[in-house]
Amino acid sequence: MKEWLTSEDSDEEELLLEAEAAADVDGSPSFREMDVPAGLKNLGNTCYVNSFLQIWFHNAAFRQALYEWDPALDSEERENESLLVGNYEPRGKVASLQLLFVMMEFTNRRAVDPNDFITKLGLDPQVQQDAQEFSKLFMSLLESSLAAQENRAVQKVVQDQFRGRYAYVTTCCHCGWESKRPTEFYELDLTLQGNKTLSDCLKDYTKEEKLEGDNQYFCEGCNTKRDATRCVRLLELPPVLNMQLNRFIFDMQTGRKKKLNSSVQFPEQVDMSSYLRQKEGTSVYCLTGVLMHVGAEANHGHYLAHIQEARSGQWFKFSDTVVERLAGKNPKLGVESDPMEGEMPGAGSAASKKSKSATPSSSSAKGTQTSNNAYMLVYTEQNTLRAIRRREAEKSRQKKQVEENSLQEELRGAMVAKTEATLPVSRTNGNSPAPSSKKSSTSNGGLRRGGQVERTPVAAPGGKRRRMRQKVSDRLRIMRAQGDDTESEASTDPETMEDVEDIRKRRKAAAGRDGERGEPVKHKEEEEKPQFMFQNGMVFPKSFPQYLISYVEQDRAQQEEDAKIAQEMKVCNNTLLQQQTDQWTCVF
Ligand SMILES: [Zn+2]
Repeated sequence: MKEWLTSEDSDEEELLLEAEAAADVDGSPSFREMDVPAGLKNLGNTCYVNSFLQIWFHNAAFRQALYEWDPALDSEERENESLLVGNYEPRGKVASLQLLFVMMEFTNRRAVDPNDFITKLGLDPQVQQDAQEFSKLFMSLLESSLAAQENRAVQKVVQDQFRGRYAYVTTCCHCGWESKRPTEFYELDLTLQGNKTLSDCLKDYTKEEKLEGDNQYFCEGCNTKRDATRCVRLLELPPVLNMQLNRFIFDMQTGRKKKLNSSVQFPEQVDMSSYLRQKEGTSVYCLTGVLMHVGAEANHGHYLAHIQEARSGQWFKFSDTVVERLAGKNPKLGVESDPMEGEMPGAGSAASKKSKSATPSSSSAKGTQTSNNAYMLVYTEQNTLRAIRRREAEKSRQKKQVEENSLQEELRGAMVAKTEATLPVSRTNGNSPAPSSKKSSTSNGGLRRGGQVERTPVAAPGGKRRRMRQKVSDRLRIMRAQGDDTESEASTDPETMEDVEDIRKRRKAAAGRDGERGEPVKHKEEEEKPQFMFQNGMVFPKSFPQYLISYVEQDRAQQEEDAKIAQEMKVCNNTLLQQQTDQWTCVF
C-alpha cells in the first residue's frame, strides 16, 4: 500500500480508480445493453476458462441447478458466517461459481470479474492451460462436489446434462457372437485429422477395426481365437452432446502439442439416430454452441465462443468482456479471425467476410457451417431445446408481469403514502405502503464501504426499462425525503404515469411476439403461480436465498456509486479544462 496516504485518502484513491475502471473511454459508465448477456474479464490468460463459463452458464438446466445448490449441505460453506451477515464471501469452488452465475445474470455491468472463481480453482491466470483438459477436470470435480446435495436435480446435473453411454463391441466373424463393454462418456472425442466433415469424424469414431492375425480375439461362442471386428457403438446420448474436435495433437517430431488449422464442416442439425440404431429422426440434435481457438499455435492465441441464447434463439459472440450479437438470420458460426493478426477483435460478420482461410463457408450448403477454429461443438437434443425455449419464454413473461405489477403497485402505494403524509394522524399508525423501501435500507446496510455510502443512483444509458425503474425509485426517494412536507405536487406525476402505461403497452406487444415465436402449448400450473418476486427494483426467482439477493443489490449499489463518481470526475475534468482555457484566453 502507499504509505504516504492516510486511510481516507487511499479509500478515495481506490474509489477513483474503480470509477475509472467502471467508465468507458468517453466517461460513460459500462452498463450492459438490455438482452445482451454479460461478458467476463480476462485475468491474463484465462480466456479458455471464460469461454467454458459462458457455455455452462447458457445451459439453462445447469445454471438453474447451480442456483439451487445449497451451501448448508456443503462441508466448506456450512460454517461460512458471511452467509448470514449479508456480506457474502464464498469459500469453496462451487459456491464461487454459484455467485459468479448469479452475477452474470443479474448484473447491470457489461462484464463480470471471475477472479474469485479462478483463484479458488488454483489456476495461474498467466498460464494458458489445455482448454479441453480443463473442462474435463472441472466437470469431474463438480460432479463429486455436488454429490452431497439433497436435491436430485442439483446432485446429478452433470450426469443428467452431459453423460452418455457407448460400448466397445467386439463381434466374432465366425459365429457372430457379440461382446459388449459399456462405458460412460461426457463428450465424444473426435479425430479431426484426415476428416473434412463432422459426419466423417463420427463415422471414423464408430468405424469397425479388424482383429486378425496376432490380434485375433478369443470368442466365447466358438471357445477359441477367431478373427473379429471391434467398434464403438453409441448406446445413449445425453440431452447436451459435447463433441470435441481434436485440434490440439501431439507432434512426434517436436515432442510438443501442435494445432491443426484444417477446416471442418458441421451441420446446424444432426440426426444421431443411425448411430444409435434407431428410427430416423428420433434423435435429432441442434447446434447451440461453438468453442473456438484462434491463432496458429497451440500454446498461444485466443479462446472464444459462439453461443445461442436459449429463449430468443439469438446467437452471440463471447470474447471475454466483449459480447456481441451475431448479425443476420443465418450467422456464420465458428468463424473468427485472429485478433493478433491485425483484424479488430469483435469485427463479427465483417471479419468473417474478410477471413481468407475460412472461405469454404461461402460454398457450404444451407444449414452447414465451416470452421478452422472450432475445437468443440455443443449440440442440444431437439425436444429438450424446445422444452427449454418454452420454459425460458414463460419465465421471461412472468418476470415482466411481476415487474410491471410491482412498479405500478409501488407507485400507487407511494401516492397513497404521500396523500396520507399530508394528514398528520395517519402517519402514526405505522403502515408502510411501500414495504420494499424498508427492505432496501436494511439489505443495503452492509455496503462494502462501511455502509455509510449514500445510495444516489444516476441516470445511466442503456435500457429504457432500467431508466424507468430509476425514475420510479427516484420519485419515491424524493417523496420519502419530503416526508410530512405539505406540498403535494409530487403525488401525481402524469409523466411517470404515462411512462408506466407506455411500457405496459410495449411489453404487451413484445409478449405477443414472444408467443408467436415460442411453442403454442402453455403450461397452466407454471402460469398460475409466478415463480418470481420483485425486490428493490429487481425481479428474482422466489427460491432465491437472501444472501444471493443481497449480493446482487450491493453490486448494483456499488455500480451506481461508481457511475456517479465517474460522472463527477468527467464534470470536474471538463471544468478544469475550461478553467485552463479561460486562463490562456485571458493571457492572449
Ligand atoms: Zn465365435
